[in-house]
Amino acid sequence: MIKRNTGFSNLTAGYLFPEIAKRRREYAAAHPDAKIISLGIGNTTEPLTPHIAKAMSDYALSLGTKEGYSGYGDEQGNTALREKIASVFYKDIVRADEVFISDGAKCDIGRIQTLFGRDVNVAVQDPAYPVYVDGSVVYGAAGANNGNGYNGITYMSCSPENNFFPDLSKIKANSLIYFCSPNNPTGAVASREQLKSLVDYANKNGCIIIFDAAYFCFIRDDKLPKTIFEIEGSRTCAIEVNSFSKPAGFTGVRLGWSIVPSELVYEDGTPVKNDWNRVMTTLFNGASNIAQAGGLAALDDEGLKEMKGLVDYYLENARLIKSVLTADSFKNAGVEVYSDGNAPYLWVRFPGKKSWDIFDAILDQCHVVTTPGSGFGPAGESFVRFSSFGHRADVEEACKRLANLKI
Ligand SMILES: *Cc1c(COP(=O)(O)O)cnc(C)c1O
Repeated sequence: MIKRNTGFSNLTAGYLFPEIAKRRREYAAAHPDAKIISLGIGNTTEPLTPHIAKAMSDYALSLGTKEGYSGYGDEQGNTALREKIASVFYKDIVRADEVFISDGAKCDIGRIQTLFGRDVNVAVQDPAYPVYVDGSVVYGAAGANNGNGYNGITYMSCSPENNFFPDLSKIKANSLIYFCSPNNPTGAVASREQLKSLVDYANKNGCIIIFDAAYFCFIRDDKLPKTIFEIEGSRTCAIEVNSFSKPAGFTGVRLGWSIVPSELVYEDGTPVKNDWNRVMTTLFNGASNIAQAGGLAALDDEGLKEMKGLVDYYLENARLIKSVLTADSFKNAGVEVYSDGNAPYLWVRFPGKKSWDIFDAILDQCHVVTTPGSGFGPAGESFVRFSSFGHRADVEEACKRLANLKI
């Protein structure tokens, strides 16, 4: 019989979110009257905005006409969309031919690993979005879990003690470094100086940074960098993955992009961009043209205004949750809230407690679902993540209940 890919047998425990769903289900079954509110999974909740939705609807209808029909699109994605992304989001510090349109950032993070094979070293922020590590295990770049993490992965601890920026000296030479800013789950945003030190380290040590900027639209502090390509030296050491999922509510529509600079090369001098083009044309056949029509609409004046409104809405939710969790009763109990208004997540520490115990206590007392920090990596223990993705009325109700949480 055919052998199972050992990567799958090396993956331990369930993926975090199915475990949360299971606990929620079990709790709901035992407490049928509980009105459970989710501040857990990082999924958008507000409807698509009118201008962007109409553009997709019009495009879909036009596909039903002789004049409007189109099949497979351009290799790297709709040319006009690539140009718009380069000019609007990147102010032309990247070129349109360095933009690759995709069905989302997570999908790109998965596919990117095919470029580097199983021999590459991998470094991740700890805590981190699970796909960086789980994808590395599936592809064989990381081995079995030894109880403290997967063999072959360098976990870079990010905590309040180091201002959520890791000790880079731990990273081995020639590593693939996954770096997410604004960070999921901590909400921390790296400063220009911090990213410069990361870029300098990568260039000096033959590393490539996979920079996940999926939350860049949440950055409201103008001093903070929104893309790795604002940093000098990044073009020889970084790939950026990004997405319309969070700013435009495209989590279900599916549209993202990656930037691979022409100067980025492997050890043998081959441009990484050439192979990425190969991956995108051989293993992927382009994003939906309907979604791309939505992306184009999102980048005109009306669309940009709508996206800003959506992001503002979630940021206001985050502010409401923060104001409850920073009340004196929590402060006196030692609860620490990390959230500086540039991300949709609040990263909250309950010193001396286990993440899953806090998760269970909040579910039991408040009927609110959160995400246990330990699910994002060992450094997440004692934290839970509160997501601001939710309808305002639900967030307000959740806040009322959380105010009475006894910990
Ligand atoms: C939501 C999210 C994404 C977006 O993934 P898509 O596949 O584009 O929906 C990427 N990275 C992080 C860290 C995220 O939280």
